[in-house]
Amino acid sequence: MDTGLKGRRALVCAASKGLGRACAMALAREGVAVTITARDAQALERTAGEIRAATGGTVTIAPGDITTEAGRAAALAACPDPDILVNNAGGPPPGDFRTWDRDTWIRAVDANMLTPIFLIRAVIDGMCARRFGRIVNITSAAVKSPIPVLGLSNGARAGLTGFVAGLARQVARHNVTINGLLPGPFLTDRLRSNAAAAASAAGRSLEDVLAERAQENPTQRIGDPAEFGEACVFLCSAHAGFIVGQNLLLDGGAFNATMG
Ligand code: NAP
Repeated sequence: MDTGLKGRRALVCAASKGLGRACAMALAREGVAVTITARDAQALERTAGEIRAATGGTVTIAPGDITTEAGRAAALAACPDPDILVNNAGGPPPGDFRTWDRDTWIRAVDANMLTPIFLIRAVIDGMCARRFGRIVNITSAAVKSPIPVLGLSNGARAGLTGFVAGLARQVARHNVTINGLLPGPFLTDRLRSNAAAAASAAGRSLEDVLAERAQENPTQRIGDPAEFGEACVFLCSAHAGFIVGQNLLLDGGAFNATMG
């Protein structure tokens, strides 16, 4: 399928590793010039080199913390008029809500709700004027099915999802779409390190814990980030202009429901 994306420009946030990297890689394969961000500049440069080598595409880096104004300014300076914006950042820590003070909540809301909203605000009018825009928010399966220890994530990401549900309907007439991609378990460094912590707490091997997690999923496996990247490409494609304000769960069927 020709995705119609050749020559487009994308800003992909938090993309030196994991799901963001997979989105950037898949978009670059479609001929999209990508700008990627992450805090660790060396890792980001390495990833940029890998994407260039794999795709022959144009990759620009914008090192910085995307949850800060300076980080967002650097990202937008490197890619001022993106046709595609993939919002992503690290997730908030787990814990018990009784211990979370106001600052803890503000950090989570800043990172996982306000950061994407401020980036959307910066790029959306240009997208509307050019009559093409694709915004994909990487959130979490926890938006549909809360994970009790991840209350900060459940709350902040649900706030983003509620806000963009309204905005998506206001900009759709300009061929600008906003959708959420909701990852279930994908084999990234984040999942590996969470599983490693669980393994060492239980005195088990990492392989054992990963195998158990795979068994729990209807597909009997953990997702491959490359699959996530391809779903992102489809939502960004020229053919996806009628997919508006949706939240696509990529979890191997783990969320048990007759309808989403
Ligand atoms: P990952 O493998 O740990 O990769 C995270 C990427 O984001 C890295 O490139 C990291 O680079 C960058 N990053 C983190 N915080 C950043 C910040 N403040 N500013 C700029 N870049 C930042 O994580 P992942 O598994 O891809 O997860 C991505 C998102 O999906 C997270 O919000 C996570 O909670 C969510 N999620 C993941 C899964 C899963 O199974 N993997 C499931 C549900 C939800 P630096 O550290 O150098 O900044």
